[in-house]
Amino acid sequence: MCRYRETDAYRRAVVVAMQRIPFFRPLTDSPAVRKELLADFEALLVHGGYVRGPEVTCFEKQLSSRMGGAVTVSVGNGTDALLAAFMALGLKRGDEVIVPSFTYPAATEMLLLLGITPVLVDVCEDTFNLDPGLLTDALSEKTRAIVPVHLFGLCAEMEPILAFARKHDLFVVEDAAQSLGAVYAFSDGTRQQAALMGDVGCTSFFPTKNLGGLGDGGAVFARDAGLAAKVRSLVNHGQGGRRHEHEQTGFNSRLDTVQAIALLRFLPDLEKHLACRRTLAGRYECGLCDCDGLVLPEMAPGHTFNQYAVRVLDNRRDELGACLAENGIDTMVYYPLGNHQQKAYTSRIRKGSAMPCTENLTRSLISLPIFPGLAEREQDRIIRTIRKFFSGK
Ligand SMILES: *Cc1c(COP(=O)(O)O)cnc(C)c1O
Repeated sequence: MCRYRETDAYRRAVVVAMQRIPFFRPLTDSPAVRKELLADFEALLVHGGYVRGPEVTCFEKQLSSRMGGAVTVSVGNGTDALLAAFMALGLKRGDEVIVPSFTYPAATEMLLLLGITPVLVDVCEDTFNLDPGLLTDALSEKTRAIVPVHLFGLCAEMEPILAFARKHDLFVVEDAAQSLGAVYAFSDGTRQQAALMGDVGCTSFFPTKNLGGLGDGGAVFARDAGLAAKVRSLVNHGQGGRRHEHEQTGFNSRLDTVQAIALLRFLPDLEKHLACRRTLAGRYECGLCDCDGLVLPEMAPGHTFNQYAVRVLDNRRDELGACLAENGIDTMVYYPLGNHQQKAYTSRIRKGSAMPCTENLTRSLISLPIFPGLAEREQDRIIRTIRKFFSGK
């Protein structure tokens, strides 16, 4: 007879499964949130405006007001936001665009789709963001734009990037997919939000982002109303003011009404959720700062901590990940490869610099659970488990 259920191993596995701390838990885990959403969806089922419903316009207005009045075009996802931005700026085959190698490769991928050459550069070891000191060497006569990515919720060093772009007449397209609400401070004391500093800013409403929906979604922000109008037309098959009159070759990428409804519910809580991420980051810092063998991210002002990624020294990253997994704690490796190491792109990109930091980070970074709704007692268990790992007890 099978006595497996009476073994210690089985009992341990059950305990671990019951106390599992996921890497991310959606807001819809809350019955109160579900109840509100269901009432809104009921209304959608009645009015039936599933595409371009009134909630989409309403969401764009509210988001625009949250973003200091920037013109806001909602789209189907953050990747399409980048594609539309590149197209609207008139970037074309043969052009070069500077992109950091250490990031999710959406920008690189969209550039390649357009026949544009991504020129990949290394990042800073401590911020994980594009190293502005490498721009000069990456520049060529074909360079038309820079895509600073505000990785993990922290703004890239925009001041030198914008100055470089101005000097060399380059567009700046911000990839703010992970950093909606992040703030950058210029040396003269002025502050500006991620996605509003360059010519065009792109963000994503993928469920795990700072403002996450119930599926795919994204938005483009532009200072220039004409550019925004071009984006709006591009993501609606190139139609301008009039239906069935196609003024340019575009594509189809609109925010679903279902997503707009969810995002309208979540947007008013964005500030609260960002504060929550920062509080959790502060608690990680307090709990882990004396662990030899760990390098924690700086609690930089304006950082929104979409991810809490720590550097594990001495090649022990995977060992730490395995230890946390054994204890029912989920982690992620962002990113195991730089864009320049991806098989799909290697032959078509240009390397604008050597990549020591990117390659080092692919081997040493691990991301710990951080999301609004992560309980203190859960986080304390994560901290205890990590401390135990490093103290060898
Ligand atoms: C998520 C993400 C994207 C793409 O957004 P999607 O909505 O998933 O298409 C682009 N860039 C970065 C850095 C991202 O993290």
